[in-house]
Amino acid sequence: MRVGVFKFSSCDGCQLAFFELEEELLRLSEKVQIQYFLEASSKNTWDYFDLVFVEGSVSTPEEEERIKKIRESSRFLVAIGACAVSGGIQSARNFEDFSEIYFSVYSGRYEVNPLSKPLSDFVKVDLEIRGCPINKEALREVLIALLQGKSPQLPSYPVCLECKRKGNPCVVVAKGLICLGPITVAGCGALCPTFERGCYGCYGPVEKPNLQALLEGYSRLRVSQDLLKELLRISFNGYNKSIREWL
Ligand code: SF4
Ligand code: SF4
Ligand code: SF4
Repeated sequence: MRVGVFKFSSCDGCQLAFFELEEELLRLSEKVQIQYFLEASSKNTWDYFDLVFVEGSVSTPEEEERIKKIRESSRFLVAIGACAVSGGIQSARNFEDFSEIYFSVYSGRYEVNPLSKPLSDFVKVDLEIRGCPINKEALREVLIALLQGKSPQLPSYPVCLECKRKGNPCVVVAKGLICLGPITVAGCGALCPTFERGCYGCYGPVEKPNLQALLEGYSRLRVSQDLLKELLRISFNGYNKSIREWL
């Protein structure tokens, strides 16, 4: 199996999950040929790939062209992390006046698109691994399942289910904190509520998040619609297709 790992606008943090696999990655590399992975090797060939993992959002004209080329040369494309799946934290700019940001952040000198967009706005994405960053367990599941010709089993239910399974007290009820767990897809093991803080949504929304119900549920905490929108915009996943219209 010929594999490629590519980076777009991102911090490189999701690619580190490959290195966290350590010896498992070495064992897997006997079955896969890693043809392209700039962060791991100086020998890279871009030919045809059976499987590619793509980190990062599409934020420049060059990236728009490159993601299309990668799609044309790949059989199966996996978006890894909130940047690739939703546009990432940099998509917070999508809701602001770009002309100001362009000069204050990019010095007015670089060719940058006004919007930071997910890969799926440009090409077909076959699978998403969620998180900021993704975790190595999800990456292992995907690699092994695809090597065996099976469908990877990744959660589609909300963080609340993981949280309840762990027996955590709900931070909304017990502490009056805002928690995006009800509309955020699971996979992190309810990490934040386990440490008594609210989920801020880094795994991104479930397939059909009921944002109106969440807002109504939070009315007793005096959470306004504006505040909820602000929280979602900076959740690393504000430009996800499932929520961007609501914002
Ligand atoms: S999803 Fe988070 S960890 Fe991954 S590349 Fe983007 S910012 Fe970095
Ligand atoms: S703490 Fe958050 S994730 Fe846990 S049950 Fe309450 S709302 Fe859901
Ligand atoms: S609890 Fe929410 S914010 Fe915390 S790691 Fe999980 S998905 Fe991310």
